[in-house]
Amino acid sequence: MLAHPTKGISEVLARFENNHFTCEYKYDGERAQIHLLEVGSIHIYSRNSENNTSKYPDIISRLPKCLREGVKSCVLDTEAVAWDPEHRQIMPFQVLTTRKRKDADASEIKVQVCVYAFDLLYLNGESLVRQPFRRRRELLRESFQEVDGEFMFATSMISSNTEEISEFLEESIKGNCEGLMVKTLDVDATYEIAKRSHNWLKVKKDYLDGMGDTLDVVVMGAYHGTGKRTGRYGGFLLGCYDEENEEFQCICKIGTGFKDEDLEQHTTFFKNHVIEKPKSYYKWDKSVECDHWFDAVQVWEIKAADLSVSPVHRAAAGLVDPEKGISLRFPRFLRIRDDKKPEQATSASQVAEMYRNQSQIQNQNKDKNKAVDDEDFY
Ligand code: ATP
Repeated sequence: MLAHPTKGISEVLARFENNHFTCEYKYDGERAQIHLLEVGSIHIYSRNSENNTSKYPDIISRLPKCLREGVKSCVLDTEAVAWDPEHRQIMPFQVLTTRKRKDADASEIKVQVCVYAFDLLYLNGESLVRQPFRRRRELLRESFQEVDGEFMFATSMISSNTEEISEFLEESIKGNCEGLMVKTLDVDATYEIAKRSHNWLKVKKDYLDGMGDTLDVVVMGAYHGTGKRTGRYGGFLLGCYDEENEEFQCICKIGTGFKDEDLEQHTTFFKNHVIEKPKSYYKWDKSVECDHWFDAVQVWEIKAADLSVSPVHRAAAGLVDPEKGISLRFPRFLRIRDDKKPEQATSASQVAEMYRNQSQIQNQNKDKNKAVDDEDFY
C-alpha cells in the first residue's frame, strides 16, 4: 500500500473531516515486509516485492524475541532505518544505502538497523487486510513487543488539532523522519494491497517551506504554558505594523518552533514588559485575548506555511477583504530580530501583498497540480 501526497495539514483535515484518523512518523528508510511462516522461516520483501531476506540477517535473528506468546505466523509491514546505537538516534536514509544488498554476513554488518513496525496484515493463518486499521494496529501492539533500538512501533498520535499535528510533524523531522503518514482508523481503513490509496495521506516537511519569505512580527502578548510548559509562556500573540493607522494588528498565535531554552529566555525577558491592559493601538479579537499583554519591544522573525483570510486576526484588515484580516498558518519561530524596531516589523500592506502573490501563484498552479494529483492517484 502507498500513500497519497498532500500539500499540508489543512488538506489532511479537509479530506478526513468526518473521519477518525491517526498520524504516524514517516520513517525514511526502506520498506521491510516481514513474513514469518508457520514452519518458522522468515522472509523479508521490499516495496516492490523484491526478496531482501539475505540483506537483513540481523532483523531475522532478532525477530523471535519480539514475538509475544502464541504468534506462529504473520506478515508485518515495517520500515527498516539506519540506527546509531551510540547516540540512540535514527540516521539519514543515505547511511542505509551503504549496507550490502545481498548475502550480508551478520558478523560484518557495520550499519545497524532499527525496524519500525506500522501494520499487521496477517496473523496466525488469518488475513487482516479487510480489517480496519484501528484493529490491525491493536493486534500489532498485542502480538509483538518492542526491543529498544531494534524493533519499535511507529510513533503515533491521535488528534485533529492543527497546532498539535504541526508540532508532531516538527518533532518527526527533528527525529530524522520524512514527515507524517496520516491514516484512517475506522471507515475506509482497509489495507489496499499494492495501491496508492487515499486511506493513507503523507505530509512531508517541504510544505513547511511553502512560503518563501519570512516575516518580522511584534510580540503583543502571551498565554500561560500548560503541561511541560507550565510556569513559562507556552504561546504568544504576534502582530504586524500598520503604518497608515499607526497600530499593531494581530496576525497569528504561535506555539511552535521553540526550543525549551527559547521559551525560558522569552519568559524571563517579557516578564519585565508586562502591561496592565493592551494598548489602544493594539488591534485584536476577543477570541485571542492574552493572559499577559506586553509593550511592543521585540521583533521576531517567523516562517509560516501560508497566509489566509481570517475572521479573527486583524492584519491588513480592509486591504484584501473589506472586513476580515489575514492570518498566518502554521507559524514557526526562527529568531529574535534585535536589529529591528517594532515599527520596522512587516507592514500591513506588505502582508496584503504577500497574500495576493500567494493567491496568484496558487491559481497558476491549480491546473498543473490537478494533473499531478490525478497521476499520483492512479
Ligand atoms: P513515492 O512513492 O512518492 O516515491 P514513498 O516511496 O515514500 O514516496 P509513499 O507511498 O509516499 O512512498 O509512502 C509509503 C512508504 O513510506 C512505504 O513504502 C514505507 O516504506 C514508508 N513508511 C515509513 N513510515 C511509514 C509509516 N508509518 N506508515 C506507512 N509507510 C511508512
